[in-house]
Parts: sequence; structure tokens; C-alpha cells
Amino acid sequence: MSDPQSALVLFSGGQDSATCLAWALDRFDGVETIGFEYGQRHRVELDCRAAFREGLARLNPAWAARLGEDHTLSLDALAAISDTALTSDAEIRMREDGLPNTFVPGRNLLFLTFAAAVAYRRGLRHLVGGMCETDYSGYPDCRDDTLKALQVALNLGMERRFVLHTPLMWLDKAATWRLAHELGGEALVDLVREETHTCYLGERTRRHAWGYGCGACPACELRRRGWEAYAAG
Ligand code: ZN
Repeated sequence: MSDPQSALVLFSGGQDSATCLAWALDRFDGVETIGFEYGQRHRVELDCRAAFREGLARLNPAWAARLGEDHTLSLDALAAISDTALTSDAEIRMREDGLPNTFVPGRNLLFLTFAAAVAYRRGLRHLVGGMCETDYSGYPDCRDDTLKALQVALNLGMERRFVLHTPLMWLDKAATWRLAHELGGEALVDLVREETHTCYLGERTRRHAWGYGCGACPACELRRRGWEAYAAG
């Protein structure tokens, strides 16, 4: 069966899941991470993962001792069901609803189901994800009700007692920066700024107060506004 003090964090390399990883290291005795590879656009985000994990381990010896294996799963099939694959227009662009056209319906349902399968094999009890309803970006699979329903489905379907944690569910982006500060002070806030990536376009050459990104896509806009609200105190 699963170890009641162990967790698997869905860690993409973005600000939200990075903060969730610190949150999990603060609470559980053993923490493993999982990332999904499903297209070129997310390569930059994935590349941030190792640097952020190493940074966390340097920050806090207790966290270093708790931080376990990192898993990456290739989900190439997801690329085949995004707009860029389904239509002749292959260019990545923003849709009218603010989502990139590489958006895959139900993506988080798939991620969590794969994560639960890995957690099952690894004997990990808790699943932690950065889904959030407050800065609702249009992803219905990030809603609290969706995740509660999924927890029931996973536990029935895998005959386990997984607990799905979404510590950011009711926080806005400024509160997410504050949570990072509570967990690891300025050093963790700086690590999140430097070593996480959120930009939809994968832009990593331009450095802003809130980190790297194009500064114009909806993800950058959300991250910038959150940072400014946090910095204003
Ligand atoms: Zn951007």
C-alpha cells in the first residue's frame, strides 16, 4: 500500500507548481516530482525543472533530504489533439478566449490520471497540483469540483486512498508569491523568479522584475500583475 507521508507533485517548471513543490516539501517526509513532455513549446519550462529542484535542495537541508526522484513522462499523443495539429493553421497563437491554440481539452484530467498511476506504482499517497480557480484562466479541468470528482474516480478506479491537494486553489497570484515567501523567505521568492517559467511563447531572453517571458501573452500578464500586487505589499 501507499506511504501516508509521501507525495507526488505535478511539477511543470512554472511558478504555480514550483510553489506547490515547496509547499509539499514543508509537509511530507518524502516528495517525488513528475513532469510531462508533450510538445516543443514546453521545452523551456521543462528545462527549468532540474535547476529549480537543485535550488530548493540548496535552500533547505531538510527539503534536500525529503526530495526524491523526478519522473518525466512523454505524452506525445497530446500534441495530436491540439488545434495546431487538428487544423491547417500550424502557428502557435492566442485564441479569443486568451488560451493558446495548443490548449488540449481535459489536459489536467490526463495529467492527474497518469500521475496517480505513477503514484500507485511508487507507493505515494498524496498528489499535489497547482490548479487554481481564482485566477481562472478558462481551464474547466482546474476547477475544485472537477478535481474532487477526479479524486473519487481515481480512488474507485485504482482501489487506493489518494488525496489530491491543490494548495493554490483559492489564492490569487499575489497570494501565491506570498506563500512562497512564507515557505522559504526571500531566497525562495528569488528562486521562483529566476528558475521558473510561465510564458506561453517560451520566451526566456527577456528578464523582468517577475522573471523571464515575452511580457505580452496572457500567462506573462497574469504573472506580472500578481508580482506587482505582491511587491506593492
Ligand atoms: Zn509570455
